Amino acid sequence: MSDKKEKIVAIKGMNDILPADAPLWELFENTAESVLKSYGYQKIVTPIVEETGLFARAIGAVTDIVEKEMYSFTDSMNGDQLTLRPEGTAGVVRAVVEHNMAYDGPKRLWYKGPMFRHERPQRGRYRQFFQFGAEAIGFSGPDIDAELIMLCRRLWDDLGLDEIRLELNSIGNAEERQRHRADLIAYFEANIDVLDAEAKRRLHANPLRILDTKNPAMQDLVNAAPKLLDYLGEESLAHFNGLKQILDANNVQYTVNPRLVRGLDYYNRTVFEWVTDALGAQGTVCAGGRYDPLIETFGGKPTPGIGFAMGIERLIELMKAQGEPAEPSQCDVYMVHQGDEARMKAFILAERIRDAGLDVVLHCATPAGAGSFKSQMKKADGSGAAFAVILGEDEVANGTVAIKALREADAAAQQNTVAFDEAVDYLVDQIVSGHDHDHGHDHEHVHYHP
Ligand code: ATP
Ligand code: MG
Repeated sequence: MSDKKEKIVAIKGMNDILPADAPLWELFENTAESVLKSYGYQKIVTPIVEETGLFARAIGAVTDIVEKEMYSFTDSMNGDQLTLRPEGTAGVVRAVVEHNMAYDGPKRLWYKGPMFRHERPQRGRYRQFFQFGAEAIGFSGPDIDAELIMLCRRLWDDLGLDEIRLELNSIGNAEERQRHRADLIAYFEANIDVLDAEAKRRLHANPLRILDTKNPAMQDLVNAAPKLLDYLGEESLAHFNGLKQILDANNVQYTVNPRLVRGLDYYNRTVFEWVTDALGAQGTVCAGGRYDPLIETFGGKPTPGIGFAMGIERLIELMKAQGEPAEPSQCDVYMVHQGDEARMKAFILAERIRDAGLDVVLHCATPAGAGSFKSQMKKADGSGAAFAVILGEDEVANGTVAIKALREADAAAQQNTVAFDEAVDYLVDQIVSGHDHDHGHDHEHVHYHP
């Protein structure tokens, strides 16, 4: 009877992150978290599923995301309309209002996690992708805008990424955008034959977004369109100039891009993007902006906000191309054993070695069997471990273990017999006291409990 099953594969546009790439992801996440921490930002985790209405309100109805990219579904148990989050700001702002977090002073927050958008999958554009983001809630001045931008710069530096440039703009406030919008609509109406179908559809709903078009046939038209920057009032200009002053004083390079707008309705004043040419068409690795009017629309008291989100896949690709290589994860010790009694002892010793803070891989049986001594030693070599700890019948009989250094040049000669009860001390001494200079781990936190 043949019961060959059809293979199930991952959903289109949703990727597995395999162990080979995991060290790079860990390097990114650890570096980003420590940079955020060094600026006083605290972690927040919100649910991946939210009420559909949250996103329509936070992102705006006439946006790519809400119009056509959301994974929305009806909860079959109770009929609720739910959506897999397409971005992080909506959930964070909901949580801030729901828990009255902004009432006892401003908050610096960061988050990371998967986001979902039903887009056409291509290089750098997926249906599940990961973002790392920050939100600063309750700060109104340009200083926090500069801080967010500068912590991004620090992250690129720490990751060894140097081909990312900053584009900056101010989109003013609602009233300034209203005046610009009227002129913009009149301008586009006068050139209606150049607009594509999407632009025509957006002309009255969200004309600002037309400036964002990727259609080459419309580039000349949008380049010559009325510039929002020319409509900024005194306060918006002062905010923008204040930001540029701080950036200049701290040697942050940027170009002002008057066409840079955020597709989202509730953004105001500062908008910025970090862009690279090294990734092809999807070159924006981080996008951010101020959203002062948003929190009020959630029923909170008026509270300013600003944040950014980074696309982690794009940054990982950039790290592969030009960043610091990540250390493959390796263990300290591989336990080799022969015979039932030795296996029992190996378990006990492996736990003790882990108690002392070291990483141990214990050889375990496979369908091919427990494995000969020779094949286990091969596995030990391949594991990248610094030491093999060997327990055979002789060692069990003598109350000893054999410990073999695997990474010394003269590894063949480096095998010692140590009393079973002294094995932990011996390994800690060898590994922690620097006999193993090229070892990738940080053993600062090793605690040895005798
Ligand atoms: P675009 O105009 O390219 O669609 P966006 O305005 O939709 O970008 P944001 O919502 O600002 O993008 O998201 C912030 C960052 O998240 C982007 O700059 C990018 O790095 C990343 N990102 C957005 N969508 C995707 C996706 N589908 N796949 C991978 N990364 C993404
Ligand atoms: Mg998009």
